[in-house]
Amino acid sequence: MSKYPAEPYKIKVVEPLKITTKEERKRAMEEAGYNTFLLYTEDVYIDLLTDSGTTAMSDNQWAGMMLGDEAYAGSRNFVNLEKAVQEVYGFKYVVPTHQGRGAENILSQIMIKEGDYIPGNMYFTTTRAHQELNGATFVDVVLDEAHDSTIELPFKGNIDLNKYQELIDRVGADKIPYICLAVTVNMAGGQPVSMQNIKEVKEISEKHGIKVMFDATRCVENAFFIKEREEGYQDKTIADILKIMMSYADGCTMSGKKDCLVNIGGFLALNDEKLYQRATELVVVYEGLLTYGGMAGRDMEAMARGIYEACDYHYIEHRISQIRYLGDKLEAAGVPFVKPVGGHAIFLDAKKFLPHIPQDQFPAQRLAAELFIDSGVRAMERGIVSAGRDKDGNNYYPKLELVRLTIPRRVYTYAHLDVVADSIIELYEKRDQIQGLKMVYEPPVLRFFTARFEPIS
Ligand SMILES: *Cc1c(COP(=O)(O)O)cnc(C)c1O
Repeated sequence: MSKYPAEPYKIKVVEPLKITTKEERKRAMEEAGYNTFLLYTEDVYIDLLTDSGTTAMSDNQWAGMMLGDEAYAGSRNFVNLEKAVQEVYGFKYVVPTHQGRGAENILSQIMIKEGDYIPGNMYFTTTRAHQELNGATFVDVVLDEAHDSTIELPFKGNIDLNKYQELIDRVGADKIPYICLAVTVNMAGGQPVSMQNIKEVKEISEKHGIKVMFDATRCVENAFFIKEREEGYQDKTIADILKIMMSYADGCTMSGKKDCLVNIGGFLALNDEKLYQRATELVVVYEGLLTYGGMAGRDMEAMARGIYEACDYHYIEHRISQIRYLGDKLEAAGVPFVKPVGGHAIFLDAKKFLPHIPQDQFPAQRLAAELFIDSGVRAMERGIVSAGRDKDGNNYYPKLELVRLTIPRRVYTYAHLDVVADSIIELYEKRDQIQGLKMVYEPPVLRFFTARFEPIS
């Protein structure tokens, strides 16, 4: 068997890519304020900005799109989606939402009181924003190692049980409505959580009457790592592992744009009837009726089908292999990035890549901009800009200052990844010439989306 299995699909439809000159890309980057979120795809060659909603759907999903039942109430596609979530993930109740953050909004509103604490294995931007908007303080209880880009651990996304227990002892369990357990941890580089850790988190939580809510957005990737690395799961299918993982959760938020293999959609799943009741009261205010929640019928059908497709071992094996392929190429050239390679992206370590640029001159932001100018590859910053400011207006200074190269699902080939690797290696060789940035516009929340920068000369 090849170390990098070839695509377990063949190409039926193609989307041409525009090839640009360096001069054109330089101009586009200046116009975008050195923020890759403000570029137009028209100017992008290989788009690794995100794997969110950028998935290529299958012929089976597209066929399902034609079966959209666009009734306002009781769409048959909702019934199919509900059945898929119940069968594959095992939760009782499903509230569809327009995407993951819609589910986060509802969950945060129904569970959080002013002054509560929400522990989690590293923050995620939208998740923490909703927790804070509802008056909670997010507390990071991930393993210390997750903040170090050089330490290799099989399950670097695990919760540090001592940190979790200390928080319970310090603030009291009645101030912790739930723990938010992300499987995998996006911001740590797509690092997985072991089944053992999930079980232990469940035990502690149950003892104190704290609910366990998964951020299940990347649960298929997490299941793959459990199968590969955890004793006792080698012979289980991805579907078996998903079912077992979810059996330790009281509910989950899901961005369908990731592991459900669709371009838009999400849901909140719950086992508790009373919580579900409250969620249905809010979904009509923020999303739509409880049988569509902001999605078209056809989109719910595509998501229902995607949920089953993502359980195919060859799909997820190929996905992870693509990411490893890019990682192996960079490793051979000595480029610093987060180890071990996680489930959805390569994260360049900008502090090590550009050690001469202080963190408040946004080294990762600059590196992402330079990569685009060099080769038309669009990546994004995951460092001080993404981390934002605390309640008192002070910048968070995250330990990790990263550039994320996110691989969309089923979209690019290994040849595209060669282009990406070659460009990064070239930049690494002339890294001394790269300088920092200053921020010239900063929006009040989620600043990384729209902030603008200028080069420091
Ligand atoms: C994408 C993502 C979300 C938010 O989902 P959206 O669909 O973008 O609103 C939440 N958590 C994680 C881990 C994600 O990757």
